[in-house]
Amino acid sequence: MADQQWNVFPALPQGRHADGQAVDPVEEIFPEGPPGNHPFKVLVATILSARTKDETTAASSARLFKHAPDAASLAELAEEKIAKLIYPVGFYKTKAKHLTRLPEGLKKFADKVPQTIEELISLPGVGRKTANLVVSVAYQKPAICVDTHVHRIMNIWQYVETDTPLKTEMALRETLPKKHWIGVNSILVAFGQSICRPVSPHCDICPLETVCPQKGVRPRKRPGAKMDNDSTLKFVSWNVNGIRAVEKKGFINMMPDFDADVVCLQTVQQGLLGTHVLLSRQRARLIGCQ
Ligand code: SF4
Repeated sequence: MADQQWNVFPALPQGRHADGQAVDPVEEIFPEGPPGNHPFKVLVATILSARTKDETTAASSARLFKHAPDAASLAELAEEKIAKLIYPVGFYKTKAKHLTRLPEGLKKFADKVPQTIEELISLPGVGRKTANLVVSVAYQKPAICVDTHVHRIMNIWQYVETDTPLKTEMALRETLPKKHWIGVNSILVAFGQSICRPVSPHCDICPLETVCPQKGVRPRKRPGAKMDNDSTLKFVSWNVNGIRAVEKKGFINMMPDFDADVVCLQTVQQGLLGTHVLLSRQRARLIGCQ
């Protein structure tokens, strides 16, 4: 999923090396022991993980840590070198800028990674989500990492009624038992990527279907369900050049999420852009353009 953050470690999926060997991201980044012993590496890897697949984060972090296992050695690296080492993580140029400034930011904490959210978010490139992950993974302190999946699903369940991830985090701090704080992110990220997807969630196979309030949800059609005469068809049409441009960013993997009845790839070179159209037998409605 495009907007995913690197999950809390136990839930990390495993990719594969070129020789077919399974990649264990924790092993890749922390060959010398558990992540709790390396707050600096946890912080840097978490910064790198935003908008990046887990396998890419693991490989980029491992490359960077060979040259910069601590703040002092990171300070020795030029921004261009850092960018080269961490490529192809998402927004690698911006992240390289942040990492260049990180050693300076850590100076006010005696070159140590701080242990509180407020101190962590004063560092370059560290938002609340990253700070919460660092506090929980590096220091094993209760912290709630609210990303888009946690925010979305908690609202679908009406466990909270909030309109921003920050408000969700604050509401969960009031209501969610502390024993679930660290684990809730990895559970709901996995759940949000597999069943309760942002587009067309798979309610028909969800174990919570009978109890979930499904607030604001438009579930996918049950596979194989028959259409009646008034059934609405979803037709997705996309400019082929657009497809080429976004293919490397995982667009093709997102196609199932569109849950379309008909998919059309246009071959028009200029002028006409792809359109999303909802069609029914009685009406056709344009719902958006891309
Ligand atoms: S029933 Fe649907 S909306 Fe509710 S949790 Fe399951 S997949 Fe999500």
